[in-house]
Amino acid sequence: MKFTRLRLLGFKTFVEPTDILIEPGLTGIVGPNGCGKSNLVEAMRWAMGESSHKAFRAQDMDDVIFAGTTGRPARNAAEVVLHLDNSDRTAPAAFNDNDALEVVRRIERGAGSHYRINGREVRARDVHLLFADASTGARSPALVRQGQIGEIVGAKPAARRRILEEAAGVAGLHARRHEAELR
Ligand code: ATP
Ligand code: MG
Repeated sequence: MKFTRLRLLGFKTFVEPTDILIEPGLTGIVGPNGCGKSNLVEAMRWAMGESSHKAFRAQDMDDVIFAGTTGRPARNAAEVVLHLDNSDRTAPAAFNDNDALEVVRRIERGAGSHYRINGREVRARDVHLLFADASTGARSPALVRQGQIGEIVGAKPAARRRILEEAAGVAGLHARRHEAELR
């Protein structure tokens, strides 16, 4: 699976609809402090189902919704859409029927989040399973937060083991085994 496109609406600083193509190769995002570079990476993590508001430097998950500025009212909803190219058919079996996947997370103020995959309403759990493998999970070491390198270096052994397991792709297996045990 590869990310091909990121669309944001009302997410943090991205109050206007914003559509970013993720081309093959290296993409750099530059801009002054506070312009929203980290918010973009957080939007990807959010659409991948991260459930801790702390991952978004927020007091509450509603804080990811555009909060308004002088002259611009706050929004009541935020939406992030992640497009994935699955032409290599590496998505987990439950989602592997399509060459392209569209994952949508939407939050309404005071009413929580909803997810859709290719237009179908799904559980957060389904989104977690889709992204559970190495390099795509919301908590995967492939997504490095600002300041996180220092945290990894200073991590306790158990936490460092989790990071290594995720990098090795074991986290996805754990998640699917847990799902199987619940059934
Ligand atoms: P730096 O170069 O300092 O790392 P950055 O480009 O990564 O900056 P971000 O951290 O992505 O910037 O963006 C921070 C900005 O996002 C702050 O100005 C903050 O006020 C704004 N912001 C965060 N949440 C919201 C929200 N819900 N509504 C509006 N603005 C928000
Ligand atoms: Mg930043």
